[in-house]
Amino acid sequence: MRLLLFGAPGVGKGTQAKLLSAKFNIPHISTGDILRQAVKDQTDLGKKAQEIMSRGDLVPDDVMIGIIKYRFSKSDCNAGFILDGFPRTENQAVELDKLFEEMNINDIKLVNIYADEEEIVKRLNDRRACKECGNIFTLSEIENSKICPNCKARNSFYLRDDDKEEVIRKRLGIFRKTTEPVLKYYEKQGKVISINGLGSVEEVNSEMLNILAD
Ligand code: AMP
Repeated sequence: MRLLLFGAPGVGKGTQAKLLSAKFNIPHISTGDILRQAVKDQTDLGKKAQEIMSRGDLVPDDVMIGIIKYRFSKSDCNAGFILDGFPRTENQAVELDKLFEEMNINDIKLVNIYADEEEIVKRLNDRRACKECGNIFTLSEIENSKICPNCKARNSFYLRDDDKEEVIRKRLGIFRKTTEPVLKYYEKQGKVISINGLGSVEEVNSEMLNILAD
């Protein structure tokens, strides 16, 4: 299975990607996670990306394409993958197509998860990340708890800079203007499956599994 998970920031791509990755035993490749790890490790890439990400802007295409080429050179991608957060510009989509051609991959599907913008703003404002393991939780999941349910770190929850309301609105604007054309690009190739992202995690996941099984 080779999927590109597509949708506005906060629509639930990461959560769904993790579930699919566990179910089908294929890697979840999140360009946002790769960048956040680089920021945490303060690598050259991380130093470059840090400010861009906290402003809510996109990291330049050539940097992102380099990251993806490197990631796809690893053998764990041979059996399939769930790509989350890439491509985010038409140029990235064109370069990804070239890479897939070189790799003889021609069975990808783009899963478009859609939701109302105001709901997205509310959801992102309501979520917290663990600074140790990067997992994301809703406020109700971690209510009164100071311990991360995933890695057990203490006092590690924080609101990501890019989840603050003014930054979210900017990211949604960039999504509409720069990322949405990617959807049309794949629609022309007949590769899009669309799913409503507004249900619970379990509902969205089961709808996705049903559609993918067709
Ligand atoms: P995400 O966790 O996917 O929402 O990504 C967090 C941030 O990482 C984005 O707001 C961008 O600054 C950056 N980023 C992730 N993926 C890409 C991409 N494909 N192109 C450009 N920037 C990206």
